[in-house]
Amino acid sequence: MDIFLDEPLSKYTNTKTGGKADILAFPESVDHIQQLVQYANENQLSITVIGNASNLIVRDGGIRGLTLILTKMNKITVHENVLIAQAGASFIETTKVAQANSLSGIEFAAGIPGSIGGAVFMNAGAYGGSVQDVVVSADVLTPDDQVLHLDKQELDFGYRHCSVQENNQIVLAATFELSHGSRDKIQKEMDHLNELRAAKQPLDLPSCGSVFKRPEGYFAGKLIHDAGLQGFQIGGAQVSKKHAGFIVNVDKATATDYLNVIKHVQATVKEKFGVNLETEVRIIGDNE
Ligand SMILES: Cc1cc2nc3c(=O)[nH]c(=O)nc-3n(C[C@H](O)[C@H](O)[C@H](O)COP(=O)(O)OP(=O)(O)OC[C@H]3O[C@@H](n4cnc5c(N)ncnc54)[C@H](O)[C@@H]3O)c2cc1C
Repeated sequence: MDIFLDEPLSKYTNTKTGGKADILAFPESVDHIQQLVQYANENQLSITVIGNASNLIVRDGGIRGLTLILTKMNKITVHENVLIAQAGASFIETTKVAQANSLSGIEFAAGIPGSIGGAVFMNAGAYGGSVQDVVVSADVLTPDDQVLHLDKQELDFGYRHCSVQENNQIVLAATFELSHGSRDKIQKEMDHLNELRAAKQPLDLPSCGSVFKRPEGYFAGKLIHDAGLQGFQIGGAQVSKKHAGFIVNVDKATATDYLNVIKHVQATVKEKFGVNLETEVRIIGDNE
């Protein structure tokens, strides 16, 4: 198993920002994760799990204790209409495997650049679909080192929410129940959604996707656009000119640049429209 000390997380985050992890491990099995959790518990180290870091800002001071990246646990298996994906599998790759097996239901995720673990954790969704529509269960590891098989009810999905968030569990794998469909039709739908995405989102620049949750009764992107904030920039972090809900790294941004842009956007939208914008993106790690 690969383990690095003092490893810059900017090498792994989608924004290309973030400080160093004291210890960064790439487990390749549940056994490896359990060994690491035991080591962390014995040495009173905190544990942080990262998926594909596509919905994440790691502060410039980095992460103390043990950080796990699960991308080496990426097996996807299919049996009839049931697909099981390990937590580190890419969500996009999972949609491709579903399509290749003529399985319909996760076309909505064709362009969501996270891992299965991150997708379950966030109840990721797009174009009218979300993880909760297709996941029937997930295997998780509890902080006291027990593997649990949780059904959909126990996962308690909501808008960008899942019970794993409060319970500090590590998602190990997820099971999807899909329906049989036409391979061509599934591919066409995935291509169509990816075209819509490419037309609206700044996919050519590093970002962490939509930074803010949708406030009730509003769209975050429209509020930010109407506040005249598109193009607003601090350091190398800029409110995207293409999609106001995204903040892009245009010139060697730091995590602090990102956080300062977020603060400015929140304050301006509050002042102009009286709406509180809550971050969807997860912000972790220490200040510099
Ligand atoms: C260009 C772009 C477009 C995007 N479009 C969408 C979209 O359409 N819809 C959408 O919902 N999101 C979208 N996102 C955001 C992101 O892709 C999703 O939220 C994704 O599900 C995050 O997965 P991840 O593996 O990258 O998680 P990370 O960013 O690595 O982590 C997110 C959170 O999940 C936790 N986590 C990750 N893996 C595990 C695990 N195995 N066990 C426990 N906790 C874990 C982390 O600790 C963190 O708190 C987009 C992002 C980008 C950059």
